Amino acid sequence: MIAKRLQSFGTTIFSEMTRLALLHEAINLAQGFPDFEGPKELREAAVDALRGGDNQYARSMGHPDLVHAIAQHQSHHFQLDWNPMEEVVVFSGATEAIASSILGLLNPDDEVIVFEPYYDSYCACLKMAGVKARFATLKFPDFAVDFDALEALVNKKTRMLLLNSPHNPTGKVFGGEELEKLAEFCVRHDLFVLADEVYEHLWFSGHKHRPIASLPNMKDRTLSISSAGKTWSYTGWKIGWATGPRHLIEGAQSAHQFLTFSTSTPLQLAVARALTEIDGSYFQNLRQDYDDKRRFLTEVLEDVGLVVAPCQGTYFLLASFADIYDGDDLSFAKKLVEEAKVATIPPSVFYSSCPEEGRRLVRFAFCKEEKTLEEAAVRLRKFKS
Ligand code: PMP
Ligand code: GLN
Repeated sequence: MIAKRLQSFGTTIFSEMTRLALLHEAINLAQGFPDFEGPKELREAAVDALRGGDNQYARSMGHPDLVHAIAQHQSHHFQLDWNPMEEVVVFSGATEAIASSILGLLNPDDEVIVFEPYYDSYCACLKMAGVKARFATLKFPDFAVDFDALEALVNKKTRMLLLNSPHNPTGKVFGGEELEKLAEFCVRHDLFVLADEVYEHLWFSGHKHRPIASLPNMKDRTLSISSAGKTWSYTGWKIGWATGPRHLIEGAQSAHQFLTFSTSTPLQLAVARALTEIDGSYFQNLRQDYDDKRRFLTEVLEDVGLVVAPCQGTYFLLASFADIYDGDDLSFAKKLVEEAKVATIPPSVFYSSCPEEGRRLVRFAFCKEEKTLEEAAVRLRKFKS
C-alpha cells in the first residue's frame, strides 16, 4: 500500500541500479558513493565520541560543536557569516534538509521552479508537501539557462527557486553572469532560493563554486544546504546541514524537529572535528584526486564513442551515446550492466517536462578507486569492440 501522492515515484533509480549491479556482478558507476574510505581521523573521532559517552539525543538544531564548526567553515570558505546557534541546523543528510525545508517553508498550492534534470528527492518532497513544481530544462551539452523560458514559469504563486550547484547529474557549476542573472531574477520576483550545494568543494579547472547566497541581495533570501557525505567521503553517515537567515531557518527547523528531532550525536562530533581540525590542503587534494579520475574516465568514454558533457564539478559525467546506440537510456543502461558489467544511471527519470532530453544520455559516477575505474575501462572498451 502506497499513498497516492507517492505512487508515481516507484523505487529510486539509485537503489534499482545498485540492485542490478549486484545481480550482474557489475562495477557500480551508478550510485554516487565512494568505494574508498574517507579520512581516518574522522573514523577515530567517531569512535572517540562513541567511547566517550556522547550517545544521547543531540540538541535538535545541532550539537553546539558542529553548528560552530559549520558557521566557521561557511565564513572561511565563502565569506558568509551566520550565527551558529540561530542560523545553522544539522539534519540527517542533505536529503532530510531538503525535505524539512520544503515541508517547513512552503504551503500547498505554492509553486517552485526546479531545473531539470534534477536530484530525484526534490520532486517527491514537493509532492508530499502539495507544492507544484515548474521545470526549466537544462539541455545537453552546455546546460545553459534559458532565461526567457524561466521568466515564463513565474506567476503569483511562485515562491522558491531550487538551485543545485555544482549540479547532479550534469556536472555543471552555475557561475559568472548566468548566476548573477539568476540572483537578479530571484530578487525581481521576490523568490527565495533553496541552494543544494552538497558538492561545494568538488569543482574543476577554475570553475570555483560560488554560493548564490554570496551574491548581492541574496543572503537574506537563500537557504544553503550541504552534507558531510560528499566532502568527507562518508555517504553512509548522513550528516547534512542548512545555513541561512532566521526567517528561513525557522521553517526548516520546525519540520526537522518532528521528522527526526535530532541527528546522530557521535557522528556530528566527528564531522565537527573534521571541519575544525583537518587542514585546508584536504579540499585541494580531494579536488585533485577527483580531477584525475574525471580526466581518466572522460578519455575512456570518448574512446568508446560517447560524447561527454564538460564536467565542471561533482563526481558525475553525463554523456550522449547517440552515436553508438539507437535505443533509449533505459535499454542502454540495461545493456551496459548485463553485457559490459558496468552499472550506470539512465537519466531520463530526472526530467519531468522533457524526459526526451535524457533519453540518449547516460550518467557515470567516478567517485571510485583508480583500480575500479581501470577495470571499468577494460570492460567498456571490450564492450565497444
Ligand atoms: N543533493 C544532491 C544533489 C545529491 O547528489 C545528494 C546525494 N546523495 C544529496 C542531495 C543527498 O545528500 P545526503 O546523502 O547527505 O542526504
Ligand atoms: N546522490 C547519489 C547519486 O546521485 C546517490 C543518492 C541516493 O542513493 N539516494 O548517485
